[in-house]
Amino acid sequence: KSILSSNFIQTIINEDLKTGKYNGRVHTRFPPEPNGYLHIGHAKSICLNFGLALEYGGLCNLRFDDTNPSKEDVEYVESIKEDVRWLGFDWGDRMYYASDYFDQLYEYAVQLIKAGLAYVCDLSADEIREYRGTLTQPGKESPYRNRSVEENLDLFERMKAGEFPEGSRVLRAKIDMASPNLNLRDPVLYRIQRTSHHRTGDKWCIYPMYDYAHPISDAIEGITHSICTCEFEDHRPLYDWVLAALNFNPRPQQIEFARLNLSYTVMSKRKLRELVEQGYVNGWDDPRMPTISGLRRRGYTPESIRNFCERIGVAKANSMVDIAMLEHCIREDLNFKAPRVMTVLRPLKVVIDNYPEDQVEWLDAEYNSENPELGSRRVPFSRVVYIEREDFMEDPPKKFFRLAPGREVRLKHAYIIKCERVVKDEKTGEIIELHCTYDPATRSGMSGDVRKVKGTLHWVSASHAVPVEVRLYDRLFLKENPEEDADFKANINPRSLEKLTSCWAEPSLAEAVPGNRYQFLRQGYFCVDPDSAGGKLVFNRIVPLKDSWAK
Ligand code: ATP
Ligand code: MG
Ligand code: MG
Repeated sequence: KSILSSNFIQTIINEDLKTGKYNGRVHTRFPPEPNGYLHIGHAKSICLNFGLALEYGGLCNLRFDDTNPSKEDVEYVESIKEDVRWLGFDWGDRMYYASDYFDQLYEYAVQLIKAGLAYVCDLSADEIREYRGTLTQPGKESPYRNRSVEENLDLFERMKAGEFPEGSRVLRAKIDMASPNLNLRDPVLYRIQRTSHHRTGDKWCIYPMYDYAHPISDAIEGITHSICTCEFEDHRPLYDWVLAALNFNPRPQQIEFARLNLSYTVMSKRKLRELVEQGYVNGWDDPRMPTISGLRRRGYTPESIRNFCERIGVAKANSMVDIAMLEHCIREDLNFKAPRVMTVLRPLKVVIDNYPEDQVEWLDAEYNSENPELGSRRVPFSRVVYIEREDFMEDPPKKFFRLAPGREVRLKHAYIIKCERVVKDEKTGEIIELHCTYDPATRSGMSGDVRKVKGTLHWVSASHAVPVEVRLYDRLFLKENPEEDADFKANINPRSLEKLTSCWAEPSLAEAVPGNRYQFLRQGYFCVDPDSAGGKLVFNRIVPLKDSWAK
């Protein structure tokens, strides 16, 4: 039922419930920075945080971690809300912004100054880095470290009032310049930045740092378990320091888990933004993107993504998940759900010479042989049909069980046909059409339907078919780990999109609307793209049928 079968975070929570640490409460949060669209890695965090709240009858907040105004935007806020909702989670009335707490965060900083635990420092960013030292060398104390409380209060207030240029001063925590943990060597808490904020406008020209704002935001909201990815493990002592210095009680605890890495793609908003801004893809919701909006447009279901997140589990050790596993999850979901229809992607005309010229039969065709509940539709059969070009070979090898001169195949839901003659273009030699005969006694479901042939092909009736465009996608990157090279974009797959513009679909698809999903018999799973609004139906291939996931 959930991601939690037995992960280590559940063990921690169970222990906390036993000891009564948070009076039996479980309160998590999902804290995206609105600086891009969410990706499948975020889905893991969403499923985990919201999933834990559901499992324990607790709460989960959606909090926009909007403390860095230069990269943030309302467009991203809206897309994040849509994506979390689409994944099937509900934050109720608990949507917050770190920027809601700017006043409180400022007051807490004043409190730290008064307690002698923070100071205004005039070193430049470069100097601060230099003074910080390295893993093997202790840091050097800033010459401004021992300013008086009064002077610090005065300077900090004037920083807020906008008296100083950007980069000229920061507020720093006074911790320990010799700490083996670099994050504790007087980390910066506030910097001056003259950037309009998407919510607070120009009210502030100083902004809190993540490591300062995050623990306080958690504490203000009554979060019990603050789950983040492993890069923040070294920041946990600072998280705890901030909460202890401000006497919060009880204190939320930070727990780290391994981030999701998926093969053949990249998973950082910064890199995904590069792909969008430099035109490698057609937007954040390009069906090749690992974004939630891209996967949605491609045709992934929320169930398949939740299921994927459950399967990959939650651990401490980083690893790379095979993208074939994600593809396996959507196949598994759509196998029963999706109606199975017939669409010819690369058409070859077939004339059935012994079929009456003006006759049309509407054949009953079940939608999904494994799920009778989906019912059936009628498919027209007539004298001229299209089959897939690759389903015919003039000079086939032994194991080719499709159509060839003199050979028979069954047309799915219809009759057995036999290829009698091949018509070619005189100049190019290209095959233009096939002439076949059909056996009237072999209609599917008829009592005479006893003859067995090795191959069954999908097809459409030429005069009834609707023209459609089909977009086939391949992996966006050629390498399993595109980031192993300095420029990840050098590994982009130049053939990740193939557009087929003269495909034919059976007429029942004329009613399809964006978001509808189908299995195209023998080809894969497909989803109607929003571009269909232009008139002609456009389908995205979600995945081919063949499953390469080794279980
Ligand atoms: P990015 O580098 O892609 O911008 P981020 O961690 O900076 O990622 P945030 O918006 O801060 O992005 O992330 C919100 C939450 O999602 C955080 O708690 C973060 O740990 C989690 N998260 C982000 N990427 C992954 C991932 N690949 N796997 C699991 N969780 C992730
Ligand atoms: Mg972040
Ligand atoms: Mg980031």
